[in-house]
Amino acid sequence: MLQLGPDAPRGRLGSVGAMADTACESCGDPTDGLLAVHRIYIEAATSEREERITRLDEVEVWCVPCRTIYPHQPAAG
Ligand SMILES: [Zn+2]
Repeated sequence: MLQLGPDAPRGRLGSVGAMADTACESCGDPTDGLLAVHRIYIEAATSEREERITRLDEVEVWCVPCRTIYPHQPAAG
């Protein structure tokens, strides 16, 4: 039986999740729904070359809003 007395740790109640100590690596927001992704940079085309897309090998953990706003690719595994 779990007992929440005066000595129970505060601040985590209502925040259930194995990744509670993990924050989004893009905006730093601690949140649920984090996903490992590769950041993608998109350089706009110019008169001299076509659009260039660069995918970083580094894996970052992003929240839902960041994955909505910024280009990325889900990290495999
Ligand atoms: Zn974020």
